[in-house]
Amino acid sequence: MVKEEKTDSAEKKKEINNGAEEAAEAPRETGVKRRERPAAPTREEVISKWNPKTKIGKLVKSGEVRDIDYISEKYKILEPEIIDTLLDLKSDLLLVGQAKGKFGGGKRTWRKQTQKKTAEGNVPTFSIMAIVGDENGRVGIGKGRAKETVPAKEKAVRNAKLGLTKITRGCGSFDCSCGLPHSIPARVEGKCGSIRIILMPAPQGTGLVAGDELKKLLRLTGIKDIYSKTFGKTKTTMNLAKACLDALKKTSKIQMQE
Ligand SMILES: [Zn+2]
Repeated sequence: MVKEEKTDSAEKKKEINNGAEEAAEAPRETGVKRRERPAAPTREEVISKWNPKTKIGKLVKSGEVRDIDYISEKYKILEPEIIDTLLDLKSDLLLVGQAKGKFGGGKRTWRKQTQKKTAEGNVPTFSIMAIVGDENGRVGIGKGRAKETVPAKEKAVRNAKLGLTKITRGCGSFDCSCGLPHSIPARVEGKCGSIRIILMPAPQGTGLVAGDELKKLLRLTGIKDIYSKTFGKTKTTMNLAKACLDALKKTSKIQMQE
């Protein structure tokens, strides 16, 4: 009897194992389905479907206003489609999070997962930081937070578009002085949290001397050559990006001598 029971339990274990294997295979299938999900709407589709609600939005949609500098000076932009219509933007995500893992943590990911403890259980939340830019002196960063990654990403891109700022580019390098906007006009400093960053103009052909996450931001701004130096905990990518943008914003305050 005892032996039979043992065999029964062994069979049961086998069944459970089979079940676990199936369960392990199931997410892979959904992973394939995810890749087949319809692609995000293109710029043209977004603009054609857009139904403007604000006064300035209606003017932009009808084509009466085309100057983004004029709009951003006089009005507060509340619709990201305004910027989509006027500029061809590229977006990227920063690696703000980290996968779970032992011995110093896992791989860096573009979504930061946090948890709230409740009586019912743990409620996860995702934070995403997006950067947008036209590679011609305009850049913006935005943060989005939601219970799932897709809405968080949409919020982040939206916030980044609404927070678009203009950066003055130039050539401040003493051994280049070509006058082309391939670098920044002068040395600038930025701060956020514990992070301090110094950006310095570099001659043509230098490339971006910066960390990978900073390179994404600088590339979208349209800067080709730069030297950088950072201090503090640069592993906090959100603060690093904010500090870099803080430094870049100061380029517009520099007064040039003729
Ligand atoms: Zn130059």
